Amino acid sequence: MIITHLSAECYPIAKVGGLADVLGALPKYQNELGATSQVIMPFYKNKYTQSHCFKAVYNDTILLGETDYDFRILTLKDHENDLGFDIFFVDVPELLYTDFVYTSDDTERFLAFQIAALDWIAQGDTIPDVIHCHDHHTGLVPFMMQESFRYSMLRKVPVAFTIHNAQYQGWFSHDLVSLIPEFKFSHVGLLDWNHVINPMAAAIKCAWVVTTVSPSYMDELKENANGLESLLSDEHAKCIGILNGIDTSVWNTETDPLIIENYTQKTIAEGKQKNKAWLCKEFNLDVNRPLIAFIGRLVEQKGADLFSKIFSESLFGNDISILLLGSGEKHTENDLINLKEKFPDKYNAYIGYDEKLSHIIYAGADFLLMPSRVEPCGLNQMYALRYGTIPIVNNIGGLKDTVEDLYDDGFGICHNGVTISEVCEAIERASEFYDSDIFKQTRAEVMAIDHSWHASAQSYLNVYNSLNPFL
Ligand code: ADP
Repeated sequence: MIITHLSAECYPIAKVGGLADVLGALPKYQNELGATSQVIMPFYKNKYTQSHCFKAVYNDTILLGETDYDFRILTLKDHENDLGFDIFFVDVPELLYTDFVYTSDDTERFLAFQIAALDWIAQGDTIPDVIHCHDHHTGLVPFMMQESFRYSMLRKVPVAFTIHNAQYQGWFSHDLVSLIPEFKFSHVGLLDWNHVINPMAAAIKCAWVVTTVSPSYMDELKENANGLESLLSDEHAKCIGILNGIDTSVWNTETDPLIIENYTQKTIAEGKQKNKAWLCKEFNLDVNRPLIAFIGRLVEQKGADLFSKIFSESLFGNDISILLLGSGEKHTENDLINLKEKFPDKYNAYIGYDEKLSHIIYAGADFLLMPSRVEPCGLNQMYALRYGTIPIVNNIGGLKDTVEDLYDDGFGICHNGVTISEVCEAIERASEFYDSDIFKQTRAEVMAIDHSWHASAQSYLNVYNSLNPFL
């Protein structure tokens, strides 16, 4: 079975969030199950693309509106890389070769990516058995495969679409619709949702199957999908939630080259202590207090607008330390930087993106805070568990599917809803738990919970098979 994934991100090549982690792992695990899974992504300007040699396998031109853009398909085959799958890049130098994955003119950029990728797939000798699109940046692919004469040879290829986050749908105005090849007025019905062009909605309408990254998120989307509720409910027969896994070869405390001290379940006490000591020294925190960390995007979805109030209240009333790693909305970043003055030896924040520091935090923190209002899957809580760090989570989406509360014989701390008092109470529970007899035993036990990709990679293969039993 040949599976071609299309995505804007793929770890370690270009990562903004969890989308990259999924694309860096799922194809590898599908290949281990006997499939031939590959990824097509844009060719950005970054460390990875500048430090590897790629082979050009195709050159052509695409027309966007009235402008011709040259593009190339570059590749680094499985045996030439350490990804575990073949990777193909769409190189449109004028549009995609940027320092950042996302910019302000993403409509044109990702449209170019999708058209160039489909042009190349359509002319190839080997048409994939399944095309799997991820998030709105690839949402017009199922539509174009279904409607465009140019891609008529792909009409019988099953196409899956995964919603990693329905908060972002790639909306653009009707003025830009003529950029889509062979656009006809009759297509508006498939592209429009609530009077704007909506690539995510178009994908939900045209894909053969729609998946979300956790079963609970699929349920929640019926009530809260940023405007797509009724569409998802109309299309529910082809929708299914499959929980993401984590790449246990990358996220492995025994071998992780990014952490200060490697450890196993048996050596967790000393191992975590050394990582924690490094963090506390680096960030001027007291190593004897419970260390509560946050890693992620500083946006409302993650509850970040409430952080400065939550942290003030919790730090004032409890003998704890808080360490934050993240970036996002500027006013939130400023509030969180200013908070350092108020609690110089109990709180610190690194505003920015730092992969190495994130690994050390998963290893050295005692608790990981995730008061997300919406969490399609959330990978951080699974990384935390694997590193023996207890998650404190709002009881929604993928967090609900992966964290069980201590009160229910589980191992984590769950709260219901994102208010200052709910989250502060959860932090207080964490601080009490830290002092309890079972804390050390629990954190060693959670390291063994299996959240690897094995089961989920198989679930995706089963879904593809259900679309074409001859695969
Ligand atoms: P989302 O995709 O919504 O941002 P996820 O929990 O699915 O959230 O995935 C987030 C991923 O991004 C995790 O691998 C997390 O460690 C990483 N991450 C987020 N922010 C940062 C940061 N500032 N520095 C390093 N890693 C980060």
